[in-house]
Amino acid sequence: MTQAASLETHMFPCLSDNYGFLIHDPIHKITATIDTPEVTAIQNALEEKNWSLTHIINTHHHYDHAGGNLELKNITDCHIIGPEADQSRIPGIDQTIAHEEEFQFGEHKVKAFHTPGHTLGHMVYHFEEQSLAFVGDTLFAMGCGRLFEGTPEQMWSSLNIIKEWPEKTQLFCAHEYTQANAEFALTVDPDNEALLKRKIDVENLRNNNQPTVPTTLSIEKDTNPFLRANDSNIKAHLGMSQSSDLETFAEIRKRKDNF
Ligand code: ZN
Ligand code: FE
Repeated sequence: MTQAASLETHMFPCLSDNYGFLIHDPIHKITATIDTPEVTAIQNALEEKNWSLTHIINTHHHYDHAGGNLELKNITDCHIIGPEADQSRIPGIDQTIAHEEEFQFGEHKVKAFHTPGHTLGHMVYHFEEQSLAFVGDTLFAMGCGRLFEGTPEQMWSSLNIIKEWPEKTQLFCAHEYTQANAEFALTVDPDNEALLKRKIDVENLRNNNQPTVPTTLSIEKDTNPFLRANDSNIKAHLGMSQSSDLETFAEIRKRKDNF
C-alpha cells in the first residue's frame, strides 16, 4: 500500500443538508471526524466502518460544526484540534492551529489555512499528499459561505488561498447546497458552457439522491462565480467591467444573499 492510499475517507449525510466526514489512518489506527454536526450520525458511521474516534478537527464554531464536540469527547476522550482564532468558541478544544501551521495526522501531513469570512476564525485543512481538503463553510460547490462575521475582502482573500492549491485537489464542502448554487451562478454567468453543463450533471446526481461533494478545484475554477469574480465576462454581465475583482466579488455575494 502506498502512503497516499493509507488515508481512508468516509462521507455521510447528516442534519438537513450537512455532510459528515471521517478520516482514518489504518497504520496508526486513528480516526478523526471533521467537525461534529450530529453525534448519532457520526457514531453510526464509526460503527459501520469499525473505526474508533480519536480526534475531532474543527473548521469553525457554528453549532452544525462543533455542536457535538463535548458529547463525543465525553464518550471517546478524543483530542480536539481547532482554529486558534476561534479557540474560545470551540467546545473542548485541546490543540489550537494557526494560519499555515502544519500538523501530523498519523502518517499524514495536514496544512491548516485561516480563511475568515463566513466566521472570523474559520480554518480549512489541506492534505497535500492525498490531494484533498476539508473546506467547511468557506467554499461550496459553485458557492461560498455567507459572510456572517467577516468582510467581502476577507472572504475574497480566503478563496484566493484555496485557488492557489493544485487544480486536482478534491474539495470536501460541509453542505449540499449545489443545486441552488447552480441556479444562482447562472444568473451572473449565464453564457458559461461549463456551468450550463454542470447544472445538468448536478440535477441528474440529485435526482438519483447522489452527493455532489466532493468537487475539485479545477471544476470550481470553471464554474464557481465566487472564484471567478476576476472573469471579464462576469464583470461585463454585471455592468462592472471597470470594477475591481473585490468589488465584483462583493456584488456577487450581495446578490446571492438576496437570491
Ligand atoms: Zn457555518
Ligand atoms: Fe455549516
